[in-house]
Amino acid sequence: MKKGILHTYEKFLPLTEKTPLLSLCEGDTPLIPLGNIGRELGVELYGKFEGLNPTGSFKDRGMVLAVAKAAEEGAKAVVCASTGNTSASAAAYGALAGIPCFTLLPAGKVASGKLAQAVIHGARVVAVRGNFDEALEMARTASREKGRLAIVNSVNPYRLFGQRSAAWEICDELGSPPDWLTLPVGNAGNISAYCAGFEFYREIGRISRLPRLIGVQAEGAAPMVKGAPVDNPETVATAIRIGRPVNASLARRAVELTNGQFLSVSDEEILEAQGILASKNGIFAEPASCAPLAGLYRLKKMDKLPAVIRIVMVLTGNGLKDPDAAKGRGEALVEIDGTTEALLEVLGL
Ligand SMILES: *Cc1c(COP(=O)(O)O)cnc(C)c1O
Repeated sequence: MKKGILHTYEKFLPLTEKTPLLSLCEGDTPLIPLGNIGRELGVELYGKFEGLNPTGSFKDRGMVLAVAKAAEEGAKAVVCASTGNTSASAAAYGALAGIPCFTLLPAGKVASGKLAQAVIHGARVVAVRGNFDEALEMARTASREKGRLAIVNSVNPYRLFGQRSAAWEICDELGSPPDWLTLPVGNAGNISAYCAGFEFYREIGRISRLPRLIGVQAEGAAPMVKGAPVDNPETVATAIRIGRPVNASLARRAVELTNGQFLSVSDEEILEAQGILASKNGIFAEPASCAPLAGLYRLKKMDKLPAVIRIVMVLTGNGLKDPDAAKGRGEALVEIDGTTEALLEVLGL
């Protein structure tokens, strides 16, 4: 059985006979009912666990199309700037397509798992002494100046096209759109892609309304909330440590069109939400992915979370990518002698 975004959504995507149908079986991720947390919040809550994509984040949905189109158009190499997940994904699909991949990462600011991925897939990893926004500007200029060097950041329209597929999966599975869809916002591509995906489904009559889109940022990197660029973005949620979102205007339109909103949460709230998701509902998502849950708790506290509505949270990336963010939290481990007596003492049952 063939699987993957390009095969499954062949009719909805800009493919030609010349597009190689690359696949790592990306997409088709589970929509997990989060009953324990939903009950606490008084809503019907689901997590779309994008951390179960082949490279552990939603980036694979758009990257498969972007790299396939680069191959179709005869690119010699692909390039991207990345806070980590884009580079892991570009490196993997570059390897699959046999196209060299160059990734620009902000030096010292990338989670260890993501760096390991780019390296093992054989990407040329360049650490830039600067932040993501600067690295992206460099990658864009390089791609403009060098013919046949395809940029696969979300300025590449094929990325957002492929990412629409997540909205389609959610509607197909629920039979209708949720009332709210909430997700973390960094470069603001994904929220724009979800909006386009829902709009397309409405156009072809699969759904009759759009969900409210609630975009959540980290307080130290919240240009969409502030309405102005942030020069030195800082947050523990490295995947959304972005001060100048390239898709800002599309994202603003998405929120206005769906009567949604942008909000920001502190790093402390993000880490607390990460702990809640893991310890109360059994799902380990990376810090950026937990900003939406922090946002829901914040709205609940402010009495601004309507009861019994259906909410889908996009859990954008896998917690295993960033083990350092989780280490040292939760209960400290105990070390014992290798005897049953010592074990029974710890069990204390
Ligand atoms: C890329 C990414 C985001 C941000 O998505 P944008 O499209 O840049 O807004 C959020 N979370 C994770 C895990 C990501 O990899």
